[in-house]
Amino acid sequence: AWSSSKPPLLRFLHTCYADFLPEAAGAVADYIPELGKADPAHFGISLATLDGHVYEVGDTKVPFTIQSMSKPFVFALALDTLGAERVESVIGVEPSGDPFNSIRLNAENHPFNAMVNAGAIACSGLLHADKGDGAFEFIRQALGRFAGRELDVDEAVYASESATGDRNRAIGYLLRTNSVITENVPAVLDVYFRQCSILVTARDTAVMAATLANRGINPLTEEQVVTPYAIARTLSVMTSSGMYDYAGEWIYRVGIPAKSGVGGGILAALPARLGLGSYSPKLDKHGNSVRGIKVCETLSAHYDLHMLNRS
Ligand code: GLU
Repeated sequence: AWSSSKPPLLRFLHTCYADFLPEAAGAVADYIPELGKADPAHFGISLATLDGHVYEVGDTKVPFTIQSMSKPFVFALALDTLGAERVESVIGVEPSGDPFNSIRLNAENHPFNAMVNAGAIACSGLLHADKGDGAFEFIRQALGRFAGRELDVDEAVYASESATGDRNRAIGYLLRTNSVITENVPAVLDVYFRQCSILVTARDTAVMAATLANRGINPLTEEQVVTPYAIARTLSVMTSSGMYDYAGEWIYRVGIPAKSGVGGGILAALPARLGLGSYSPKLDKHGNSVRGIKVCETLSAHYDLHMLNRS
């Protein structure tokens, strides 16, 4: 019933925006120095429905780096490009319970899942093995198809992350010594740092999330970007591991597959219903956007969107 009530939905998003705008908690990520320059006042909420309507409130046109929200899309691309068997032979699907940048691997010396850095770097490595120097361009163009427009890279964030990314490099070498990746590690890390530095807006991430919710078909361009098979697997891993070490709480309280990024974005994809994108750069201790979490909690409660409470 909520989708037939368009003006009330937009009004509701405006109410969320006004209610959470004064929220002052959290801190902008600065372990990548360039991210520390984000304006903490920025706040945008966008919701895309599967019939192609996009609702927007606040700073929905402000570009920010996608960071870890690239991970589900690159995982889906790896599944379609290399096949599930190849991907599953080196990347697990269990939640780690660890922070995003944990260096710990599972008992098989594989990444726990593709939503933590180790698994995402492994995905970038798989695509690099298949596409060589064209791997990043392949990823950039595919993410653009999810968003329905061409996406650029924030070169300053890329340079900043590359200059300070030794922990991710260490993960890369750990993956290579365990034969998870076989590629030149700096080349794989370059793909990973660039994919994290792709610029999106809250509106873009709502459309990207709606494409996940729509079995891989972008609701605006109607292009089939990845297979329904890859989407179902990707949403599964988002459900169990998308929100860092808050993933269990998240699926319990909000009940919508989601992924956040340290740039301040959260994207949430409710299958067959909607995609939500929010942007607000102040993060809580798990690395999730403080206002973004509140928007999702409120939206889920107000419209009864918990995925396990469907009729
Ligand atoms: N590029 C960031 C890193 O690897 C992504 C982290 C995130 O958004 O969780 O540290």
